[in-house]
Amino acid sequence: MFIDTHAHIQMREFDPDRAEALGRAKAVGIGLMIAVGYHLAASRKAVEAAQRYPQVYAGVGIHPHDAGTYDDAAEETLRDLAKQPKVVAIGEAGLDFFRDRAPRAVQADAFRRQIRLARELDLPLIVHDRDAHQETMQLLKEEAAQEVLLHCFSGDLVMAEEAWRRDYYVSIAGPVTYPKNETLREIVRKAKTDRLVLETDCPYLPPQAFRGQRNEPAHLLHTAQEIAGLLGMRLDELGRLTTENARRLFRLPPLEQ
Ligand SMILES: [Zn+2]
Repeated sequence: MFIDTHAHIQMREFDPDRAEALGRAKAVGIGLMIAVGYHLAASRKAVEAAQRYPQVYAGVGIHPHDAGTYDDAAEETLRDLAKQPKVVAIGEAGLDFFRDRAPRAVQADAFRRQIRLARELDLPLIVHDRDAHQETMQLLKEEAAQEVLLHCFSGDLVMAEEAWRRDYYVSIAGPVTYPKNETLREIVRKAKTDRLVLETDCPYLPPQAFRGQRNEPAHLLHTAQEIAGLLGMRLDELGRLTTENARRLFRLPPLEQ
């Protein structure tokens, strides 16, 4: 059994076949997933998906692309959404200096406020970091973030080691299967295994076998197979390990076998 810790199954890309996609995931052992919000409407839709589907939990947050929409009213909405059943995290929140869709100071402010919100609500924080590794780690430290998941990890080994020293969780996505991504494979080989979790980030970032197509939760299995090989583990051992890690972080109920 596996948990997909980052699946945007609330997106319209899944409107034609959402139930079928969840069925395909279940058929290959993806027992639970977290639908992650990235602005208020997407966060609401994530909460609705969690209400509708037993295997779906939700995260609510505002992505750095939409950091300009973060104000007191937005925060109050997030606070309300976070109290809904099956909401298990704040996020995704963070910094994106690759696309720079919002000014960096605005991104930093929205990120700081969501770090504080996660602490206030005693929820883990799902962090988006693209080309902003140092600044992300710096803000997390300054705001004394407590329970952190670095989603779709894209830093180097030095950053990963700093994350492990701070007891952050590191989530590995499809890029670990890309031929050029030896850096990420090396990080997995050296991973602090009790802080390792898996994700698809679907509909984005399909594993190598599905590049150019829409990603979906069932494809987590390909990422898991790659990681099991890198760690010299059987697939079921990796499933147990990463499921336990995700359950601990998000305080999820035991999976039905
Ligand atoms: Zn995402």
